[in-house]
Amino acid sequence: MVELPVKFLEMLADAVGPKRAETIAAAIRETPPVLSIRINPYKWREDGVVDSVVSGCYENGEAASGDGAGFPAPPPDAATLAPQATPPARIPWCPAGIYLATRPVFTLDPALHAGAYYVQEPSSMIIELLKQFLEKMDLNLRLLDLCAAPGGKSTHLASIMPQGSKLVANEVIRPRAAILRENISRWGLPNVEVTSMDPSQFAPRGYAFDFILVDAPCSGEGMFRKDPESVKEWSPESVQLCASRQQRIVADIWPSLEPGGLLAYSTCTMNRSENEENVAWIIETLGAERVSFDPEILSQLRSNGVIVSPQGELRLHPGLVKGEGLFFALLRKPADSLPQEELPKKFVEHRFTNSGVNDFKSGNYKSAKGKTSISGHNNSKSQNSGQKFSQSGKPLKNNFQQQNSPSQNVQPEHEMALSTAFSGDWPSVEVTKEQALTYLSKGTLNLPDSPLGYLRITYGGLGLGFVKNIGSRANNLLPPNLRIRMQF
Ligand code: SAM
Repeated sequence: MVELPVKFLEMLADAVGPKRAETIAAAIRETPPVLSIRINPYKWREDGVVDSVVSGCYENGEAASGDGAGFPAPPPDAATLAPQATPPARIPWCPAGIYLATRPVFTLDPALHAGAYYVQEPSSMIIELLKQFLEKMDLNLRLLDLCAAPGGKSTHLASIMPQGSKLVANEVIRPRAAILRENISRWGLPNVEVTSMDPSQFAPRGYAFDFILVDAPCSGEGMFRKDPESVKEWSPESVQLCASRQQRIVADIWPSLEPGGLLAYSTCTMNRSENEENVAWIIETLGAERVSFDPEILSQLRSNGVIVSPQGELRLHPGLVKGEGLFFALLRKPADSLPQEELPKKFVEHRFTNSGVNDFKSGNYKSAKGKTSISGHNNSKSQNSGQKFSQSGKPLKNNFQQQNSPSQNVQPEHEMALSTAFSGDWPSVEVTKEQALTYLSKGTLNLPDSPLGYLRITYGGLGLGFVKNIGSRANNLLPPNLRIRMQF
């Protein structure tokens, strides 16, 4: 049983009232965490191949209450899941989310490696609520997920952002940024760029976004049930440290939000300091305005155990919802705010290159009011020129374009196999589950009946990576760091 610090319990009672605090504490101590997946609307198919491992673990339930009035409609593929005797239980606020009753061996499911779904706890899927706001904004939105690793909310945002939008998924800690990049590649949606910058580095460059998500690093109380060890790291002092760091992060990125743009602030913690008090601070200090959710949606959320504060912030807590702890608030920068001034450009920027996922094309993120543009486009929303830019602003050779040519002389980048925008320039070869696992273990495949040269290996029609077929064997081109080490 998880031992919860007395001070934590006091702060919890202060935040949600003593009765609810007892329910939450009992859930943390006595019940297991909730397990769920979020399906990739562009890759998922319920055909006995792509869903085979997880479908054996579905929690049965009513069709999503999210199908009902108020909540957004399920994505097309989710809506057309083959009829089952008892349908899988859906996460009420996110129709693409499915509860699992038991844990499959995810590592041995090729569909996971192909990006057909993401393993994510249900409360984090509250991001789905943003869809209606983004759809109302524009067709060519520039979005930033500032604290993005490992990529749960970035993959979600990429799935719901309006067509023509571009998402920058940023993670300041470099090893975590590498994991973020893997998950973004696997998800396979175009128009997502991965960066590794400190929040303070965006504004001096004049980068501007229409939407920013700050899923802030926090004291992690909401994950106590999933990770009981984290309780040992908790202290009232760490809560205060986190709260000030969160303020600094939001203040640093605030100038990069366009006037009229939206900022979503979330944490996976439950105390007031890191949540409501920080939102009040953002409003008072930075001049943000609150954005309200549709009353019908709020009523649906309440009936599913979500606490809606009088100011419209959302709290999801174990014991009250079927999920872990999460706080979520939506704010707007007033439309009549002054655009950010151009500031000196002295900082070191880290960005990934040659990822095959679109890299950071800084010219796309200049403020519409900005005077300079590295790419030479003055309008920040001008279409992507397809070029990458060096620090000096000179165009770099564009590997993606070069490799997109139907040449068998150029080794394709791994990420291209996973992309939903795969051009078909290399032949695809469908493999069995056992062959897929052999491939993912870096084993050698024999494909005697397939063409020679570079081939894209698919499982259930979804790309896993490339091989080079030399006839006697097919050399495995899976990046070594992605190799699975589990016996199957
Ligand atoms: N949004 C992620 C997801 O859904 O998968 C989870 C993000 S986690 C709550 C917070 C992230 O902020 C971590 O990846 C952490 O490395 C990063 N972080 C830590 N310190 C930071 C800082 N000073 N500025 C920005 N991000 C920071």
